[in-house]
Amino acid sequence: MKASLRYKELNEDLKRVAEELRIKSEEKERLEESKKRMLADLSHDLKTPMTTIQGYSKALYDNFVEDEEQRRRYLKYIYDKSIRVTDLIDELFIFSKLDNPDSLINKQEQDLCEFLRQLIVEFYEMFAEKEMELNIEIPSKRIVYSFDQKLFYRAISNILENTIKYNPLQTNVFISLKESKDLLVIEIGDDGTGIREDLAETLFEPFVRGDKSRMNDGGTGLGLAITRKIVQKHNGRVYVDTNPTRGSTNFIIELPI
Ligand code: ADP
Repeated sequence: MKASLRYKELNEDLKRVAEELRIKSEEKERLEESKKRMLADLSHDLKTPMTTIQGYSKALYDNFVEDEEQRRRYLKYIYDKSIRVTDLIDELFIFSKLDNPDSLINKQEQDLCEFLRQLIVEFYEMFAEKEMELNIEIPSKRIVYSFDQKLFYRAISNILENTIKYNPLQTNVFISLKESKDLLVIEIGDDGTGIREDLAETLFEPFVRGDKSRMNDGGTGLGLAITRKIVQKHNGRVYVDTNPTRGSTNFIIELPI
């Protein structure tokens, strides 16, 4: 081989290695940034309810509360905020467990159609309370798939709970399971509030919440991050289509067959 040709190849190899190193260092920086952001968000989300708990319990302890009704109201604030703290800790625990690449999942073959039908039944009452109309398309046959039932329950419940939580009364909800050549596709969509297109990807990152949701104390911003980790543990992918043909938000879970 001519020296000039070898030199050219070497030069290209070096360029490739330099490019790989640059990508790796950018990735590392991005991870560091996201860890820092996560910690800051976590401290904020834990501190806010704890400050309320401290304030109201001190008022009660110091006998600043005049009447029974006010006393009960303060106790209710304390109770609600303590639930919020435990919810956050529970979700954080699950998220960090799933984040560990060595964590094991308990996959078992079972009928995915039946599993979905039963899960949806558990949500009937909540959908009915918000007068939401359910449009369900799940095949009546059996589709046997190997999955961790507890984790799948959590992954799909997170999306269903959000559908109820973030949409107005009388929203139409579409739930379907379809089989393609090499994929099982679960779709959960609604024609409600919608999700900003630029947020569609970041909402799956921990602690990221939609615009108005920060004001609504009912969430942790970990739900969709947990859902994504669970789907990934099953070698699948989950994403949101913000502009589907029906409705305004469509969560899509694709599972390899
Ligand atoms: P949380 O519900 O605790 O905020 P999630 O990770 O479950 O966290 O959801 C992230 C955000 O995605 C929510 O805060 C909300 O803004 C948005 N979202 C999720 N589902 C829907 C939906 N069906 N319609 C509109 N917004 C949604």
